[in-house]
Amino acid sequence: MTDSRKYTGERFLQNYPGPGAGAPLALAAYPNSYKTGMSNLGFHFVYSSLAGSGRFRVERKFLGDPRGKGSADAVFFSVSYEEDLLNLVKILISLGIEPLRERRTDGPLVIAGGPVVSSNPVPLFPIADILAAGEGEGALPVIMEAVAAEGPDRSALAESLSEVEGVILPGLSESTAAASPVDPELFQHSVILTPDTVFPDMLLVEISRGCPGACAFCMATSIYRPFRTMPLERFETLIDSAIERSGPDPVKVGLISTAAAAHPEFTRMMEAIEARGAKVGLSSLRAIDIDAEKAGAIGKAGIRSVSLAPESGSESMRLRLGKNASDQTYLDAARLLCREGVTGFNLYMLAGMPGEDERTSAATEDFLSAFSEAAKGARVTVNLNVLVPKPRTPLQFMAMPGRKEIGTSIDSMKTACRAAGVGISVKGQRSSMNQARIALGSEAVGRAAVRFAVGGTSWKRALKDEGVDPDLIHAERGVDEILPWEKVFGSGRRDTLLRRYRAALK
Ligand code: SF4
Repeated sequence: MTDSRKYTGERFLQNYPGPGAGAPLALAAYPNSYKTGMSNLGFHFVYSSLAGSGRFRVERKFLGDPRGKGSADAVFFSVSYEEDLLNLVKILISLGIEPLRERRTDGPLVIAGGPVVSSNPVPLFPIADILAAGEGEGALPVIMEAVAAEGPDRSALAESLSEVEGVILPGLSESTAAASPVDPELFQHSVILTPDTVFPDMLLVEISRGCPGACAFCMATSIYRPFRTMPLERFETLIDSAIERSGPDPVKVGLISTAAAAHPEFTRMMEAIEARGAKVGLSSLRAIDIDAEKAGAIGKAGIRSVSLAPESGSESMRLRLGKNASDQTYLDAARLLCREGVTGFNLYMLAGMPGEDERTSAATEDFLSAFSEAAKGARVTVNLNVLVPKPRTPLQFMAMPGRKEIGTSIDSMKTACRAAGVGISVKGQRSSMNQARIALGSEAVGRAAVRFAVGGTSWKRALKDEGVDPDLIHAERGVDEILPWEKVFGSGRRDTLLRRYRAALK
């Protein structure tokens, strides 16, 4: 095992070859806490790839964790959330690494991949030496090999990597086709179990990638296409191996998917877990996939709380945004699941949708009342997030509503919840604007992140000092201009996205 710094309570599910003498030190870094990083399959993938290559000494590095302070030769970040860009810079500073790429000509290499890089890598251009866009299973081994062979020699790395699909070398080679979709046999799973994650001691298995849906605000279908599912045999092999290696303590199996019940072998996967005496954890389900058989499998697995994502209480809004599920679909799913013993529902919904008005509020109140009735006896809670326009989706062009309109949208959802006797938890109200500024940003946003993380200035001041108008997110963009990420990935899908955007506004 190459990482001797085991954290308390961890169980390793894989053995890794020891690196050769004098191997470079690579940090598998996650720009947030240990708890968040160890809950992220992208991070497990990066760690496992580095350790499994046998080419590096590997340590993990998390935000605020004093460990992982050796003088690294390369830092490999997995970035899942836009605001973690600021944390990424903070980690570099804490490691004594110059965060601006142009000033770091021969020091440690900064490498990043993950959903944020796959949607809009441009804010990372002033910071990273190498970026991997799209599915990393193809690009990461090639990047690791080049880094192990060439060390910090930027021009040798450029020679090795400039033609690799999905690889971007800021300042040298800044456009690429996103990496090709990988075989579902290679989908990710936890390689370390730990009690200190969002999913304690749970083996997370990515049972599918992409989504059969096509919601106008969601990156799942734009950056991971097409929808693919892990074969049942591969799934069974993985859980058998995890159970064998994890020792006497029980293992829980979490099915990671945008649409777990859309997997054609969903019921058999649930049965396979149950047959091994393990417990099941489920991510959010699509109501449209729930039928009597799948509801039965969920109930039999002892799952008592389920998350669904209607996004809007207005059926017409939902359909306009490409969420092809009627109100009735949700009510039917609620009844089926309650009959099988489910006693709690989390409904993920969005504030600040395009074209919200009083009819949306009235429809939401009716929908929540009807859902509450269909789920009689169960606890229903709305988890409300603010809609953030994301790159490479139809809503990339959308003007994000201002603070006041978002406040009104949240208030009307609270009123609807009260009227329907449903609980509500509001998340991300304050951070959504920053998320949008980074998600839709240019190189200047990356430079502002460095200015801010170095200290002595506020985030808004740092943006302004780099020439970024913080209010630009509230204007429509890109209809007549090339967007930052289109310079990287091309604008081939622009007509389709624009057509869907206009349809969403109708
Ligand atoms: S169903 Fe969910 S994951 Fe799939 S496209 Fe819609 S919002 Fe995204």
